[in-house]
Amino acid sequence: MTYIAELLVANEAYAAARANVADPRPGRRLAIVTCMDARIDVFAALGLHLGEAHVIRNAGGRVTDDVLRSLALSSQVLGVDTVVVMQHTKCGLAGVTDEELRALTGADLGFFPIDDHAAALREDIEMLSATPYLEPLEVIAGFVYDVESGEIEDVVRWERPA
Ligand SMILES: [Zn+2]
Repeated sequence: MTYIAELLVANEAYAAARANVADPRPGRRLAIVTCMDARIDVFAALGLHLGEAHVIRNAGGRVTDDVLRSLALSSQVLGVDTVVVMQHTKCGLAGVTDEELRALTGADLGFFPIDDHAAALREDIEMLSATPYLEPLEVIAGFVYDVESGEIEDVVRWERPA
């Protein structure tokens, strides 16, 4: 059996037993931006359930144009007022340069490498808080998830001034 066939077999059992969520608006008015790293189980790590949060993932969990695109819809259309940006320890984007990542991949792209987690989180949260069309956002938090202990470090917090 191929891996793809295994996925489809697993889906049969899932579809038979799944919980149905009718409302597309995240129940906790929450969006999580985090890394695609396979070691992070976002819902379990944060005590979330199906239907409660948007999860936007990319390499590094950085705020890119495509993250802004998704958050425009989260905040303006789907009721999200809180964002958590969660980077993690042992990330493949930490401690490397754009030049190294371009050489590694052959892709002439900006990879948003992370030199320092706190600085990168502050930079990304600054961008989110300063983006005019994200004005429905009231709270933005920056976390670092430890992939070895499962613990989260609460690093940066922004709240919209009253
Ligand atoms: Zn990562």
